[in-house]
Amino acid sequence: MLKNLRVYNSLTRQKEEFKPLNPPYVGMYVCGPTVYSNVHLGNVRTFMSFDVIYRYLMHLGYKVRYVRNITDVGHLLDDGTDRISKKARLDNLEPMEVVQTYTNDFHDVMTLFNSIPPSIEPSAIGHLMEQIEVVKDLLDKGMAYESEGSVYFDVETYNKAGNNYGELSGRVLDELMAGSRDLDGQDEKRHPADFALWKKASPEHIMRWDSPWGVGFPGWHLECSVMSTKYLGANFDIHGGGMDLKFPHHECEIAQNCCSTGQKGANYWLHTNMLTVNGTKMSKSLGNSFLPAELVSGDHPMLDEGYSPMTVRFFMLQTHYSSTLDFSNEALKASKKGYRKLMNGLRNLKQLSYVPNEEVEINEKQANQVNKLCDNCYSAMNDDFNTALTIGHLFNLTKKINNIHTGNLQPAELGEEIFNRMKETFLAFTEEVLGLKDEPATNTNGLIEGIIDMYRKAKTEKDYAQVDQIRAMLKAEGVVVKDMKSGIDWAYEE
Ligand code: AMP
Ligand code: ZN
Repeated sequence: MLKNLRVYNSLTRQKEEFKPLNPPYVGMYVCGPTVYSNVHLGNVRTFMSFDVIYRYLMHLGYKVRYVRNITDVGHLLDDGTDRISKKARLDNLEPMEVVQTYTNDFHDVMTLFNSIPPSIEPSAIGHLMEQIEVVKDLLDKGMAYESEGSVYFDVETYNKAGNNYGELSGRVLDELMAGSRDLDGQDEKRHPADFALWKKASPEHIMRWDSPWGVGFPGWHLECSVMSTKYLGANFDIHGGGMDLKFPHHECEIAQNCCSTGQKGANYWLHTNMLTVNGTKMSKSLGNSFLPAELVSGDHPMLDEGYSPMTVRFFMLQTHYSSTLDFSNEALKASKKGYRKLMNGLRNLKQLSYVPNEEVEINEKQANQVNKLCDNCYSAMNDDFNTALTIGHLFNLTKKINNIHTGNLQPAELGEEIFNRMKETFLAFTEEVLGLKDEPATNTNGLIEGIIDMYRKAKTEKDYAQVDQIRAMLKAEGVVVKDMKSGIDWAYEE
């Protein structure tokens, strides 16, 4: 009953029962960042959504191979320049320095928000040979053509062979012709919707490799087809990314996959919705983005104050991944309160253990309510990973926990089984599934100073029992009190 998970599949445009190809194994591929700049909070939303999906699948007992790539070449700007090459040239860096810098930043940010690293994190440059092999194969099959040292995928031929370029995004090829802009390389293509599998490198392009078609570099869409199928097989379970990757990126991946392996790649295509600012997508190019570090420090004109990483995580999970989420200080302040309420419940729960009491009768109503709330956590997550509803059920469980904590409800009224289920479910959903953890007090030094004041007072009053107690308590936390001629001070134990 716990495994009746349903997911919204962008490919079929409906919610479907999740049936892995080879249970208990699940293969999941998520498009990773293009590492030419710091990830912004919008990117974080997408990766955090998949972190929760990964966590929940594991909680259900699946053995998940989670592949999330690093795009270190080929993601072009409209004028045909590679983002990483451009950044390297501007900053006078080796392209791999750019890649390393922003890969490190990405990892730090993911750790900050308590995301679990993927099982495999392949990079596009590390899979050049495989990409060249697929280009050769698509040329051999007549699905691609060479033009001016570049190789393009031929979408018209693909459609004539009975395929449907546009099946994921709902776009129609003829309309793509009319809607195409005057982008780099258009005149080399047979159809404006044709996309590059291999691009000829211009003389100033610093990331370049030899190939059967001359010196160049791979197209962005190709890397994900190659890396997903290399590590998960031609047919795997889940492919994910932000909504803005549906077209052209994922549409192109499906086309490449169909021609090279005869399969579409994933069975379930999942897309996260955008983090917006005043209704507009947060994006680096629009200048409305801020960095996770700025959000935490509060050092940005749009921020009233800094918000802790777990407050931000809570804020994001309070909205279902398929809905847009608009940034606002008010929403974050409300999330801070909500997060603290949940953590107070968690702390209370950790102190509780079952106390048998034969004189107490089972309170059927309370026990049923608690049991139902535990079921609800599962049904919410089973409904396309609805974290927003799950948090609502956890709040209701928090009320029960707090009632036990204050003595208004006795564990024995729930019975041992239900009490233990409540404890396990609450812990599992807050910490393991949603990845929310109790953050240490932000102003630890302020707390220590306050205790040192009490110590001073106790000394002045010659209350030596209290003096010894405070000293021992601080020592247990790694803080030593220093009685000096100049006064009382403290330091961390060395
Ligand atoms: P990029 O490095 O630009 O390819 O983006 C990495 C991931 O972040 C992709 O899956 C994007 O779809 C996603 N993304 C970009 N902007 C936003 C946003 N404002 N909200 C949510 N996800 C985003
Ligand atoms: Zn991708």
